[in-house]
Amino acid sequence: MLRIAVQSKGRLYDETMELLSEAGIKLTAMKRTLLVPSRNFPVELLFLRDDDIPESVASGTSDIGIVGLNEVLEKGKNVEIIRDLGFSKCRLALAIPQKHQYNGIEWFNGKKIATSYPRILGDFLKKNNITADIHEISGSVEIAPGIGLADAIFDIVSSGSTLVSNNLVEVESVLASEAVLIGNSKELSKEKEDILNELLFRIEAVKAAESKKYVLMNVPRAKLDDVVAILPGIKSPTILPLADESWCSVHTVIQEKNFWEISEKLKSAGAEGILVLNIEKMVP
Ligand code: ATP
Ligand code: MG
Repeated sequence: MLRIAVQSKGRLYDETMELLSEAGIKLTAMKRTLLVPSRNFPVELLFLRDDDIPESVASGTSDIGIVGLNEVLEKGKNVEIIRDLGFSKCRLALAIPQKHQYNGIEWFNGKKIATSYPRILGDFLKKNNITADIHEISGSVEIAPGIGLADAIFDIVSSGSTLVSNNLVEVESVLASEAVLIGNSKELSKEKEDILNELLFRIEAVKAAESKKYVLMNVPRAKLDDVVAILPGIKSPTILPLADESWCSVHTVIQEKNFWEISEKLKSAGAEGILVLNIEKMVP
């Protein structure tokens, strides 16, 4: 049984559970317990506050964990990042009241900065030879300048709307963060190692499918070569006959980001009835 530390509720929770579910891991009915085993895969989930996940993994209480990179770096525990997971993307940034003129990082010399990330901020200031007063608070950091508690803040930003509504402006982006899978340097038993490898294999399949779409379209046989030349398929596209022998159906997989560009070209080349479908998993 492999133990995975995950956030019990909050911004990581939904996508963590979605990833595990897409990897085919079903949980036994959760009766508000801390430790929940899966009913079809040899893992159990330990539900924690995200602050406690790095320590739980570093100490070996949990074998692996899913947590934000920001939290991993702030806690500075002895854990290793196994892989990025691509969700809960955000950044840690310095922001100051809009009314100030910002003329570079020296602005922060002698200032008081409120944050929940004193370690990451301290390292950043030191690297840039800035001496500032770090004021650690655990929540609602963004209101600190407005109530006279600090001159600036260092906090998580995603869309930036919280900053705007507090009359703040982001001036330095310090760290790009996303959810990561972490482990420790302790050697896993053969049994746990095998479970982890199977889990990683499944996560790989889910992630590989995420940015891809399955595309199918009808193409006049006479135009087939032109259409196939446009498609950047994994290997070569599947070509199926249609009842009308002068047409065929072409199926392939493309990167979602390329879809609009390619669809224009396909239409001009003679493709019709283009369908785009989600792919759940891709096993290499
Ligand atoms: P806990 O109660 O578990 O300690 P928390 O209040 O510390 O939760 P959350 O707000 O749930 O933390 O955020 C968890 C993590 O999600 C953050 O550490 C960060 O990695 C990421 N995150 C935070 N805010 C955002 C956001 N606006 N957009 C995307 N990801 C975010
Ligand atoms: Mg927390």
